[in-house]
Amino acid sequence: MGRLNRSTVLSLYTDHMDQIQAHAQACYPEECCGLMLGQIVEIEGQVQKKLLALYTVDNTWEQAAVPIDEATSTSPLTAARRYWIAPQDLFNAQKYARTQGWDIIGVYHSHPDHEAVPSECDRKWAWPQYSYVIVAVKNGVPHDFRSWMLDDQQQFRTEQVTVLDAVATSTLETDI
Ligand SMILES: [Zn+2]
Repeated sequence: MGRLNRSTVLSLYTDHMDQIQAHAQACYPEECCGLMLGQIVEIEGQVQKKLLALYTVDNTWEQAAVPIDEATSTSPLTAARRYWIAPQDLFNAQKYARTQGWDIIGVYHSHPDHEAVPSECDRKWAWPQYSYVIVAVKNGVPHDFRSWMLDDQQQFRTEQVTVLDAVATSTLETDI
């Protein structure tokens, strides 16, 4: 468990950051979501997650078979308040990532007219190894971008984000 205590850094290219924000803007006022694929490297005790591709998925909250008691307090329960990634999308993303020698390193989603801070629902569904990028969108315009990770107490802490200038990146659309 010591690994989780160490600081991690999420590094991503400006292109990916732009694409995540564009996706968040396009889905407004609903939440967008997608998977982040890349490589995890450990350099001198520091875990670096390098985002190499985005795997865009549809927010399938409306179809998700989530037990009522898992749906927590916020209502109405629409895709404007929740996101849900279908297991098949996760499976396909994992399969694709493996062919590239990558892993799923995290999930991104947007918070329409809400700050870039994880909700209790986000926390309950979070996986310890993943980075959780949240984009806050106010009146249709993305204005905050943060990454979060669970600590050993299952609480979210902000994760350092390094933005790299660069070229040519790919976005995979699952619905093509
Ligand atoms: Zn959220």
